Amino acid sequence: MDFDVVGAGLAGAEAAWQLANRGHQVRLREMRPGTRTPAHQTDKAAEMVCSNSFKSDDPFSATGILKAELERLGSLVLRCARDQRVPAGQSLAVDREAFSAAVTAELRSHPNIHWTEELVTRPEPGRPTLLATGPLTADPLAEWLTEAVGCGRLFFYDAIAPIVERDSIDFSIAFAASRYGKGGSDFYNCPLDKAEYERFLDALLAAPRAPLHDFDTPFFEACLPIEVMADRGRETLRHGPMKPVGLDDPRTGRWPWAVVQLRQDDLAGEHFNLVGFQTRLAWGAQQEVFRLIPGLQNAVFARLGSIHRNTYVDAPRVLDACLRLRAVPDVWVAGQVSGVEGYLESAACGLAAARFMDQRAQGREPAPLPRETVLGALLHYIASAPGRDFSPVNAMLGLLPEIPEGILDVRALKRSGGVKALKAGKGAYHRERALAALEAHIA
Ligand code: FAD
Repeated sequence: MDFDVVGAGLAGAEAAWQLANRGHQVRLREMRPGTRTPAHQTDKAAEMVCSNSFKSDDPFSATGILKAELERLGSLVLRCARDQRVPAGQSLAVDREAFSAAVTAELRSHPNIHWTEELVTRPEPGRPTLLATGPLTADPLAEWLTEAVGCGRLFFYDAIAPIVERDSIDFSIAFAASRYGKGGSDFYNCPLDKAEYERFLDALLAAPRAPLHDFDTPFFEACLPIEVMADRGRETLRHGPMKPVGLDDPRTGRWPWAVVQLRQDDLAGEHFNLVGFQTRLAWGAQQEVFRLIPGLQNAVFARLGSIHRNTYVDAPRVLDACLRLRAVPDVWVAGQVSGVEGYLESAACGLAAARFMDQRAQGREPAPLPRETVLGALLHYIASAPGRDFSPVNAMLGLLPEIPEGILDVRALKRSGGVKALKAGKGAYHRERALAALEAHIA
């Protein structure tokens, strides 16, 4: 069958490749480089616009289980991510350029994929289409979508963290370590004592911020700008992205008062991003404020932070359980615009959409993935979230069906290793159940 996939981002790249591999002819319609979004820098597929991380690889975390599911389902994005991995403790972080180049090469060389550069304003009538145009969906298409689904379009803002050049970090102050020594010494840590933290906070709170153009639009809670977190109280950052626990400063042998972590952003190890420091401070102010961080006093910024509009549909009201627009059944929606949040989740959603479209092409009723899987639970949530204020969702164990009573010996687990052991025990159960359910589904 012939399909259109609009957008060669994380979701569109995965979906196009999955459909093509199942023997379908795919027209992949991407507007870059002719038309750019405010965040994308390249003409490559699956560009990671902010952090370079696909989150935790801990096998018992939600994202660890999701990765195992994607591996089982033959994900292109995950394979390329593993191939282009850079050190990042327990997280799967990649060299973003090498990663996008690898995905692009796969798509460009696939005989069933026909890549066209065009700004799509509406799906071609009568042609089955997947919209995977992401949080920065270009206006004309977003307008079509608004009309097609009625009042189902929402906005929020998302922010990008700055990146510094390695050579400009002062290593007489910054030290290499992961929390509690887990996963080697993959992060650089800039320690702050109490006075330095207070001074940094004062500057951060006083610095000018870039204006927002839509003041009623809320921020996404999981990706709050650093200055918005600081507004919530002087201790908030010390318990959030600047948490010092588990990080011994070699100069004192103790945990500092606060810490800024730097994570490698490219394979060559030349660029490091400030973890959790997404920001909408004015650009001039960013350099001044972030150079107050000990170790970054001479920092050269390869990229400054910024903030962008994020577009997504009101999924529970406009999508069915298989990512299809209720109002336009020829059109599927995947990725961030469908109401999932994150690179990994977007790619996973693209993979699921391709499976549903393939099943439909074969004349079968699309079969939702089991709710016991992280991917199935995520899609179930977006199709049926309660309440009127739907907001995009990450992979979380809390979305999965509860563990039946009596399965885990909670007391024994707690006795053996406290809350940590209990968490691991629950994660292990979820993983085993998810992978078994996926096997049964595939069979
Ligand atoms: P995208 O990867 O953005 O792909 C959409 C593609 O569609 C783009 O290539 C775009 O050019 C194209 N397109 C758009 N409109 C049209 C059109 N009309 N015609 C043709 N092509 C079109 N997630 C994380 O996990 N970690 C992060 O650090 C992170 N930071 C983010 C920072 C910002 C500023 C934003 C906006 C989002 C961030 N996200 C992050 C969220 C999200 O995971 C990513 O945006 C992810 O790339 C979404 O994947 P996607 O495939 O849905 O969209």
